[in-house]
Amino acid sequence: MTKDIYTYDVRCRTCRTLFKVQLFESHEKNLFLVDKKDWYCEKCKKEYFSEQTTKLSRVHQAIGFPELNGSLKMVSWAEKVRAELINKIDYLKKSLTFENDDEKELSEKAFDMFFKEWQEKTEAKWWIDHRKMTVRNISKRVAEISELIKKK
Ligand SMILES: [Zn+2]
Repeated sequence: MTKDIYTYDVRCRTCRTLFKVQLFESHEKNLFLVDKKDWYCEKCKKEYFSEQTTKLSRVHQAIGFPELNGSLKMVSWAEKVRAELINKIDYLKKSLTFENDDEKELSEKAFDMFFKEWQEKTEAKWWIDHRKMTVRNISKRVAEISELIKKK
């Protein structure tokens, strides 16, 4: 079955400019989308992304993360990934319980070192490549670092 491509006129929510989009669903569904979806023109999308990216970049620099290198599109994506990954660390940290103060101190040191590893990643591409990193992956790396500290 070949899918028809329909072109529709939609209006940008921000600047109200009319522009064309191609939709690939059934005609009824497309009309529904044209009507219900929030559409943004390329120009407004770009401005929105760069605003969001600048905000995230500022938040990250305040906690010691460097500005990222790469194309605007990649940096914008990487900043979002970085925010999500940092949230995962926070989540992990909050979920931990300790038997005693030594354990707690070791964990804090390991997290610090782990954080430093990430603070050295200045390429947007690195963050995009690691976007699927899970809380479990982070936990594993922190455990490895803890072992290294213990051996010292
Ligand atoms: Zn617009």
